[in-house]
Amino acid sequence: MLKGQSKVKDNLASNLASYARRRSYKKGEIIFKENEERTYAFIIEKGKVSIKDENEKTLAKLGAGEIFGEMALIEEGQRTANAIASTQCELFLISRDTLFDKMNNIDPLISLLISMLVERYRMTRIHLPESIKQESPADLIDIMREREKETNSSPVKDILTSQKIALNELKTEQELRQAIEKKEFSPFFQPIIRLSDNKIVGFETLIRWFNPEKGMIFPDEFIPVAERTNIIDMLDSLMLEKSCEFLPKLQETSNTDLFLSVNLSGINFENEHLSEKINQTIKKSNINQSHIRLEITESALINAELALSALSKLKRIGVGIALDDFGTGYSSLGYLHKFPIDILKIDRSFVSQISTDEKGIDIIRAIANLAHNFRLKVVAEGIETKEDEQIIKELGCEYGQGYYYSKPISYEEAVNLLKEFS
Ligand code: C2E
Ligand code: CA
Ligand code: CA
Repeated sequence: MLKGQSKVKDNLASNLASYARRRSYKKGEIIFKENEERTYAFIIEKGKVSIKDENEKTLAKLGAGEIFGEMALIEEGQRTANAIASTQCELFLISRDTLFDKMNNIDPLISLLISMLVERYRMTRIHLPESIKQESPADLIDIMREREKETNSSPVKDILTSQKIALNELKTEQELRQAIEKKEFSPFFQPIIRLSDNKIVGFETLIRWFNPEKGMIFPDEFIPVAERTNIIDMLDSLMLEKSCEFLPKLQETSNTDLFLSVNLSGINFENEHLSEKINQTIKKSNINQSHIRLEITESALINAELALSALSKLKRIGVGIALDDFGTGYSSLGYLHKFPIDILKIDRSFVSQISTDEKGIDIIRAIANLAHNFRLKVVAEGIETKEDEQIIKELGCEYGQGYYYSKPISYEEAVNLLKEFS
């Protein structure tokens, strides 16, 4: 096992201890009892749960998407009711630490609002009579349904939709963590072509998830969830490690100084040890750091101070920096010179228009001119036809990438492609 891989596993083990767990309960099984220490809140994924008081009186019947035992997220102490699985159940268990972990990763204003509401809820409960300090908002949904009929509004539907989204997200997050542990992620490679002589000069590393049941899953389906949780850091590290592992063999096959261009989510900028971590990974593998490029998107530059500090440190370790999907984010051309960027990647949405739309051509020409004024090289993404290639060449872009040359392919296919090209 690579050193980095065992680190990923260590991280995972420590994270899993505090993170949402998933557990099945049999019909009739006790989930928690009165007077037990509160350790988790629960979200019902499947099945039904009854909340009962000490006299076996049912206080609430809950179903999929509902949360109970949530006081565990708010304060320590003992349970004040019993929770029993009234059917076979699948539950997510969430600890207090998880909630605060999650809150560190969201918008600070929302985090502040949640903290205030939690505190207010806690203070209000202190003044409630004991009889209603139960573990669940008893049949809240039923009460709201009644009110809905009277007012002709649909808050229940809204709540249920949000519950469904939240549940799906929680489920994907769980699956991603398990997939890292089971090593289901691999890099695919898409060639980047030098347009002056049509040679492969590098590849972009693109993550793929091979799930035993669902088959290959594309990043658009899981990167957003990975970015909202703190999983992206592990996936990006893994792709960098894999890139460092495969690069020497690809260079050997092509007999050139190929580079690999690795995606780095802007979320990583919050990690103050990012550049040391990346430096260590590259050093371990004995490759030249200038043969690694990091691709960051425009949105990663929104917090300009944070981005400038992170990029300057990365630049100092000698890696190349590419600005990805250029033109799709907050495109102020004026900020470009502020950041230590070497390459500009023009988003494929512009390239896809060029054969039908004069405006598309003008935009690319303007971007390429600007980039050249700042001494940046330009990669045009999404070249799909000979005609696209021709126009892109005329506009002065140095490099091209797209299905016209090759879709992203496995390492073995990349080796074969290099053999064919050289
Ligand atoms: P991206 O960085 O813009 O990557 C290029 C995407 O465009 C790839 O999709 C590629 O398959 C697709 N593409 C390339 N040429 C063409 C073309 O000619 N036509 C069309 N229609 N599409 C083309 P993919 O692999 O599905 O990746 C989607 C996005 O997921 C990437 O967009 C990137 O933002 C993200 N991503 C992929 N791997 C990683 C990773 O390791 N870390 C992070 N943070 N993000 C990643
Ligand atoms: Ca990219
Ligand atoms: Ca891109």
